[in-house]
Amino acid sequence: MRLSSLLERFNEPETLKMAKLSRQLRSSGIDITDLSLGEPDFDTPDHIKQAAKKAIDDNFSHYTPVSGYLDLREAICAKLERENGLHFTPEQITVSNGAKQCIANFILSLIDDKCEVIIPTPYWVTYSEIVKLAGGKVVLVKTSSNNGYKITPQQLEEAITPFTRLFMFSSPCNPTGAVYSKEELRALAVVFSRHPEVMIMSDEIYEYINFSGRHESIAQFPEIKDRVIVINGLSKGYAMTGYRLGYMAAPEVIARACDKVQGQFTSGVNAVTQRAAIVALSGGHDSIDKMVTEFKNRRDRVMGLISSIPGIHCSVPPGAFYVFPDVHSYFGKSSPSGANIANADDLCMYFLNEAHVSVVTGRAFGEPNCIRISFANSIQNIEKGFEKIKNALQQLR
Ligand code: PLP
Repeated sequence: MRLSSLLERFNEPETLKMAKLSRQLRSSGIDITDLSLGEPDFDTPDHIKQAAKKAIDDNFSHYTPVSGYLDLREAICAKLERENGLHFTPEQITVSNGAKQCIANFILSLIDDKCEVIIPTPYWVTYSEIVKLAGGKVVLVKTSSNNGYKITPQQLEEAITPFTRLFMFSSPCNPTGAVYSKEELRALAVVFSRHPEVMIMSDEIYEYINFSGRHESIAQFPEIKDRVIVINGLSKGYAMTGYRLGYMAAPEVIARACDKVQGQFTSGVNAVTQRAAIVALSGGHDSIDKMVTEFKNRRDRVMGLISSIPGIHCSVPPGAFYVFPDVHSYFGKSSPSGANIANADDLCMYFLNEAHVSVVTGRAFGEPNCIRISFANSIQNIEKGFEKIKNALQQLR
C-alpha cells in the first residue's frame, strides 16, 4: 500500500511507543514496572467528576463551538488573570483536544517551508515532529545540566537568523523538570525585543507541578506579550489526561487561524469535558496541592535511589514528574545475553526486555546520553523499578 509522503517527515512519539511495548509484554503475563508514564497516577478530583456526570444528565450532547464554549473561555481568561496576571479576552482563547492539539493547530497555522523554529534541547518529543510535519526547519540549541538545562540569552541570540519564525519551550520542562525564573525569562524577553519577527510558544502544562516556588510566564513582559502563545491544559495539574482538554491564549489572529484548522480536523472539544473544565478551572487547588506534595516526596525518594547507582549523573528536577539522568557511562557494555548496549535506545530496550522496567530513551527528547524516568507511579513501584534498573546495570560487562 502506498501511503502519503507526509508520513515520512515525522516520527511516532517514542513515549507512546514505549507505553505500547509495555502493554504488549504485560498482556503476555510479564510483570512490567512502568516508569515511562507521562501522566499523573491520581484520580480526577470528585467535584470535577460530578460536573462531568451532571453535564451528561443536562444533555450536553451536541456539537460545541469550534473554539470552545464562551463560559469556558471566560473561565480560562479569569484563571489567567487571577493566577498569572495575564489579560486575555475570550476571542483570544482556543480550546482543543489536549495541549497537543493546541500545539499542532498553532504550528500548522504559523509554519511554512523554510521557517526556522528554535527549540532548546532537551525538549518534549512532539515539538520537533509537528514542526517537521508542517515543513519547517527545526533548529536545536543544546542546553546543559550545568545551566539547569535552560537556554541562555546568548545562545538564543546566536540561534536567531532572518528565517527564525518561532521559539518554543516548556517551563516546567518535560523531560528535565527545568523551571525558568522570572529573571531568566526577562533576560530572554530582552533578546526577543530585538527580534520583533520571532514568535514565542510558552508551554505551561506543568505549571502546577513546580517544587521551586511561583510559576512565571514569559507572557508577563508587555514588550513581547503580543507575540507570546501560551499553551496550557487540564491533563497534568488536574489529573485529567483522558478528558482531553488543552487551551491556547494568543493574539486574536492566531486564535482565528487555529479555529480554522481545528474546524476542519476535529471541530469543538467534547461537551462533557468542557463543562467539567469550567468547574476545574474555577475551583480550589486542594487536590492539586496534595498531588504536588506527593510528587515532591517521590522526587526526593528517586534522587536518593539514583545516588546509590554508580555511573549515573542526575540533577534534581525542580518541576514536572520526571528525572533525566545521564547514563552514557554504560554505553559500549554488553548484556548477559551478549547484546551490545551502544546507546540509550539499546539500554531502554534492555531494561524493558530483560529487567521488565520501562523508561524512555533521551534520544526522543534530543539528548542521546540520557533516559527519562517518570515518578508518576507509587513509591512502592518506583522502588521496585529502581531495584530492577540497578540490578540490570550491575550485570552489564
Ligand atoms: N506539553 C508537554 C510538555 C507535555 O509533556 C504534554 C504531555 O505529555 C503535552 C504538552 C500534551 O498534553 P495534553 O495533550 O494531554 O494536554
